Amino acid sequence: MDAPDGAGTGKAPAILLRGIVKDYESGGASTRILHGIDLRIESGEFVAIVGPSGSGKTTLMNILGLMDSPTAGCFELQGRDVSRLTPDQCAEARGKTFGFIFQRYNLLTNETAAENVGLPGAYIGIPSGQRRVRAVGLLEGLGLGHRIANRPPQLSGGEQQRVAVARALMNGGEIILADEPTGALDTARGEELMARIRGLHRQGLTVILITHDPGVAAQADRVIRIVDGAIISDQPTERSAEPDEPPQGSGSVPVLPPDAERGRIALLADAAEALRMALHALQANSFRTFLTMLGIIIGVASVVVMLAIGEGSRRDMQKWMSRMGTNVLRIEPGAKMSASGGILTLQDARAIADITHAQEIVPRVFSARTLRYRDRIYACTVLATTPSFIRAENRVMVRGGFFDERDEEAKAPVVVLGMKAYLELFPDRTDPVGKRILIDGAPFLVVGVITVSGGSADGRDREDDIALIPLSTGEARIFRSVRINQISVTVDDYVNVEAVQDEIRSRLNRLRQQEDFRIFNQAAMIEANRNTQNSFRFLLGAVGVVSLLVGGIGVMNIMLVNVVERTREIGVRMACGARSRDIQLQFLTEAILVCLLGGVIGVLLGMLVSGFVTIGESKAVVTLAPILLSFGAAFTTGVLFGFWPARKASRLDPVVALSSE
Ligand code: ADP
Ligand code: MG
Repeated sequence: MDAPDGAGTGKAPAILLRGIVKDYESGGASTRILHGIDLRIESGEFVAIVGPSGSGKTTLMNILGLMDSPTAGCFELQGRDVSRLTPDQCAEARGKTFGFIFQRYNLLTNETAAENVGLPGAYIGIPSGQRRVRAVGLLEGLGLGHRIANRPPQLSGGEQQRVAVARALMNGGEIILADEPTGALDTARGEELMARIRGLHRQGLTVILITHDPGVAAQADRVIRIVDGAIISDQPTERSAEPDEPPQGSGSVPVLPPDAERGRIALLADAAEALRMALHALQANSFRTFLTMLGIIIGVASVVVMLAIGEGSRRDMQKWMSRMGTNVLRIEPGAKMSASGGILTLQDARAIADITHAQEIVPRVFSARTLRYRDRIYACTVLATTPSFIRAENRVMVRGGFFDERDEEAKAPVVVLGMKAYLELFPDRTDPVGKRILIDGAPFLVVGVITVSGGSADGRDREDDIALIPLSTGEARIFRSVRINQISVTVDDYVNVEAVQDEIRSRLNRLRQQEDFRIFNQAAMIEANRNTQNSFRFLLGAVGVVSLLVGGIGVMNIMLVNVVERTREIGVRMACGARSRDIQLQFLTEAILVCLLGGVIGVLLGMLVSGFVTIGESKAVVTLAPILLSFGAAFTTGVLFGFWPARKASRLDPVVALSSE
């Protein structure tokens, strides 16, 4: 840091420029706009910069305000070498050190006067409550207490310029930079504004003012004349000799909260602020917002509906598959090559009882036998099995109940009649439960009547032409042998059928020392079903992804238009101290908000539509997973498609952004 020369105040000058050069590249050629500017402005000075149009005044001002960087030369701001500052530090310095007053006011049209004034406070982390209090105080001090809630289009030019002055004072920056502030005002309003600016100077602020009006320049203490990018004169005015009027109390400018208090909640405040601004921006363009959202709504709704249809058909398919017995394996005696089939016994059934995914093991012994009730005689299949039969098979009790483990243990002479057998023996349809019938002459007590689930009530189904007795009873009283004709194994899900089959084969081989049995499954059907399900799911997924993609591109498109349309706003925010990531966060928040809101509406719409959709026999079934999925997808779309426009916005050059139309 250089020792202050000349002034002898011991304090570093507000501005110290040495040999500042600025070149602009255009079309390969480089034009020198500033030709080595040397300038020293003490803290508390009131300086006017005058010169013809195009002489480089605004360029110089932009460099002073850290909006632009010089091509060469040295710039010390309050004793700090500016070239060492990172972009974020520059933004912070813009927010804290400077107050900008622009010729064209540059207020944000969607925000109220108080919000406009408070804007710079947001970027240095003043909590919103304090910000509002201070903004209102500043507006009242400028005689705009009644205009707090008005938006700029409702204000006159003079009022807008006063709002702009209040905004420049918001962060208590010590240096006021004003570029032709009276240029858009009539003489009376211009004089009024100059009076205020002089007042600020009296309060101790450093004022640097650009003008081409000699009358305005005469009100400064010092006038610097620039022609063709070089200072040609630098003189004190007559006013500087006049004694200063007594400074007005700084009571009109409310006190700022201390720095430490601001930083603490910065992160949370950033997010809240971004959310608030995003809501404002979306509200301001509500029809466009709605159109953007429509893409997301349709995308998300179609994902929800598609997946609901998929889920409905999957459930139906699964029901159908298990009704078709695809999740059932059958083990039967008999080797592939030899004619001498082995004998399956209960021991075999027990050996495979504890296989994972195998739910019910149902051994069966069956052959045709004669049933008799009083004078009615009927021949049908008598099936000896275990109580697991009723759990494994798709049957329902019409009357009474099925025999249980105690009957099995006790070799109880009980029988459950199939619907057909029941109707043959009891044509008058009397309740057979508790009646005694004969099977091959042996007495059995009827305990229930069973039918195929979903079958016809008249017992026409082949499966209803049957009489069921406990396995142990069958061995002891009817079949007089331990040969099991078939063991069926129910697997929890047909996808596990192969694994269970392999395990059964290896266990039985170990037990029997030879493969004298065969295992049957419905592999072909399972495979066919798996293929259909996969292609169905793929198709639905593809439709969903495409619709989300289309929605996302819509969001990106609108966000890009948004960035272009709001370039000037971005410039103003940057001048007010917004860092590049504040801008990025703001635009990203807007995109995410649109997508999330669209997501919520889309989910609701999708659920509503799913309620009405039936394809063939399948009803669409909404489950939680697709809701979370489409919601997640909406969020991701927002981030992905909002990212690029947001980045584009944040990378704008503040000077270019500000000077855009
Ligand atoms: P003043 O404010 O004194 O009217 P400016 O500083 O705005 O002048 O402009 C000085 C010169 O620099 C002008 O000739 C202008 O065309 C040129 N200039 C300003 N900004 C740019 C830029 N971004 N690129 C190229 N030339 C520029
Ligand atoms: Mg200019």
